[in-house]
Amino acid sequence: MKAIDLHCDTIGELYRLKKEGHPQSILKNSRMVDLEKMEAGDYGLQVFALFVNMERAEDPFACCMEMADLFYQELSAYPERIGIVRTSKEIEENWAKGRMSALLSIEEGGVCRGNPAFLRDFYRLGVRMMTLTWNYPNELAYPNRLSRLPDGSGLFEAETERGLTEIGAAFVEEMERLGMLIDVSHLGDKGVWDVLRLAKGPVIASHSNARALASFPRNLTDDMIRAIAERGGIIGINYCAAFLEDFGPGEQEISRVSRMVEHMKHIRKVGGIGCLGLGSDFDGISCELEMENAGQLGKLAREMERAGFTDGEMEAVFSGNARRVFREVLG
Ligand SMILES: [Zn+2]
Repeated sequence: MKAIDLHCDTIGELYRLKKEGHPQSILKNSRMVDLEKMEAGDYGLQVFALFVNMERAEDPFACCMEMADLFYQELSAYPERIGIVRTSKEIEENWAKGRMSALLSIEEGGVCRGNPAFLRDFYRLGVRMMTLTWNYPNELAYPNRLSRLPDGSGLFEAETERGLTEIGAAFVEEMERLGMLIDVSHLGDKGVWDVLRLAKGPVIASHSNARALASFPRNLTDDMIRAIAERGGIIGINYCAAFLEDFGPGEQEISRVSRMVEHMKHIRKVGGIGCLGLGSDFDGISCELEMENAGQLGKLAREMERAGFTDGEMEAVFSGNARRVFREVLG
């Protein structure tokens, strides 16, 4: 069953490996996502995030531009297997031909430096989705998770009070005008609500689960799930163990496929089947995984089948819902 994955950090991994003098290819590599694994997992589309760590990158903007170049160098080298897409029409053309698609996103709106001109430049470069933050506050908004301070001295509190800045609110408007998906994953709770209040069209959470089942602050409350669903948006199930269940101290954190399906059942109950998608976070997570890489996606389909998801529901979660949102937002 053809799949769409809304978030992976593979380009960041390839970028890091290249910088360290051990370049690997998108065709076949030792990480979780490559073209061969995507084919084995029957992928139709992967959203590739350019993830920039604002505290570590010497020049975050330059780092993002180098990663975008790496994305183009790697993904344009195998045109018979995968095509870089910017519109829903291109996605559907590839889909019909049985060719995979690669869509570009940014994970860390701070790379725009609060400048809408840079946002538009990224759009021209093919970026069609962006998280307003990663784990650090930036010009646009405040993030939501316990995060180590840059000097390593302590942790940020989970952010619930501070949301979007004025510039962030203007970015939401401009992203919608351009036809770029607003991704609320990583935002603080107030930021999520600010986006849901301001945005007129669908909003997505590319890699977040249900807080009712795992208390990690990056997960979504039932009210958020409902609000995203009401807007016609989607939530990509994150495969990271800490997003799937709460572990006690010293307990081995393992990402279980059955837990992913539990989150799906909960989100289906709260928001309906139409708001579910996949957001693996592959190559951005380091826990032990039952489903180790993109090639093993069949494990998830089999578990959903066992849990009683109908063929139509599975198709919606694997690709149908995402294709609908792409049609609506990307044009
Ligand atoms: Zn992330």
